[in-house]
Amino acid sequence: MKTTRQRFYILLIAILAAILPLQAITVDEVPNVHVADRTQYVSNPSNVLSPAAVSRLNSAIGSLWDNTSAELVVVAVDQVDDSMTPDEFATRLFEKWKIGKKDNDNGVLVLLSRDDHKVIIRTGYGVEGVLPDIIAGRIIRNEMLPYYREDNYDEGTIAGISTIIGALSDPNVAEELKSKYANDSRRADDDLSGTEFFNLFLGFAAVVGVAMLILVMYAISSSRRLDDVQRYRSLDQYRTLVLFATFLSLGMALPAFLLLAWKMKRVRRHKRNCPHCGTQMELIDEEHDNDFLTPAQDTEERLNSIDYDVWHCPKCYQTEILPYINRQTNYTVCDRCGARAMSLVDRRTLRQPTVRTEGEGVDIYMCKNCGNQHNKRFRIAKKPDPAAATVAGSILGSTLGGHGGGGGFSGGSFGGGMTGGGGASGSW
Ligand SMILES: [Zn+2]
Ligand SMILES: [Zn+2]
Repeated sequence: MKTTRQRFYILLIAILAAILPLQAITVDEVPNVHVADRTQYVSNPSNVLSPAAVSRLNSAIGSLWDNTSAELVVVAVDQVDDSMTPDEFATRLFEKWKIGKKDNDNGVLVLLSRDDHKVIIRTGYGVEGVLPDIIAGRIIRNEMLPYYREDNYDEGTIAGISTIIGALSDPNVAEELKSKYANDSRRADDDLSGTEFFNLFLGFAAVVGVAMLILVMYAISSSRRLDDVQRYRSLDQYRTLVLFATFLSLGMALPAFLLLAWKMKRVRRHKRNCPHCGTQMELIDEEHDNDFLTPAQDTEERLNSIDYDVWHCPKCYQTEILPYINRQTNYTVCDRCGARAMSLVDRRTLRQPTVRTEGEGVDIYMCKNCGNQHNKRFRIAKKPDPAAATVAGSILGSTLGGHGGGGGFSGGSFGGGMTGGGGASGSW
């Protein structure tokens, strides 16, 4: 009979056993460090390489990029996802990141997968001449594997990368590797990378936040001479806008919204003295304020078109009734009884529109207080010509379709290079 504690440990071990193989990384999970920081060329998510080695590699590869425009990238992982071989993984990653410049495909990816005991040099089309598969294979065998066999991943990688850099820096091949595009260039046809876009968005959100704050302060200041009801109404106009801006700016406009909400509440609920005797008045709660309202006001409050605040003087029994219009409901004022209780109840089509003639319809409004009815006619636009619609559709379609060839959204700031799967790999 197992104790609870033993069962717990068995469960824990089972969970760990299930989790551990997840160390294997997929192509999508490899962090594209160069996109986050343009001075980084080594993706080392599991710290297979030491920080010192990464920094040496970054500076050596950085000067290669500057001098030749060739895009050399190192990825060191502990294990690749077992749905594909490390060779396929390297090709997929190369294609996903589009390493190398678009015009001459001068990219090279070196993938080290420690627990797979595998290293791969993957070359772009434009590098196959400079770094043929046979040379890549020799670099792996002679420079890298001897160190890797001794679990010295730092030295093996540095030795291999140095030799690759030497080959790519050969003055005789400089012309072949040189791209007409600048490194990480912002060419006209380039899409913004995710990070750049996000930074731009943050800047925009901050501007929105400050602009909303200025707007709210202006609204508060410019409405200060109005009476409470008018002032509340004036401030209320900005509520939806500022609330919308708060969402749009990921909360950067929240201070503006809070200031506005605070001021609106204060305008409506500040202490109020009786106009007759000067005694401080009391606000009657929503349940009991109906006793002081007319039937029309009662209807308005029930419809939520106007919210009435009833202030009551405990000394002289004077009441003050302040109407706050609710902008969220769509009632209009009835021209017969004056209650804000008129709303659209029906919309009818009187005459259908054709291709040649306009149609006509009528909106029927009714007052929920006195039953007054009011009709408002409106025109309906002509039907679109089916022939014209087809032409417009095909123009639109070809415009959208034609755009597809322009490189697309790469999502990275590598140069858009491709590989034919050239290069070499080695195991230890
Ligand atoms: Zn009073
Ligand atoms: Zn009415």
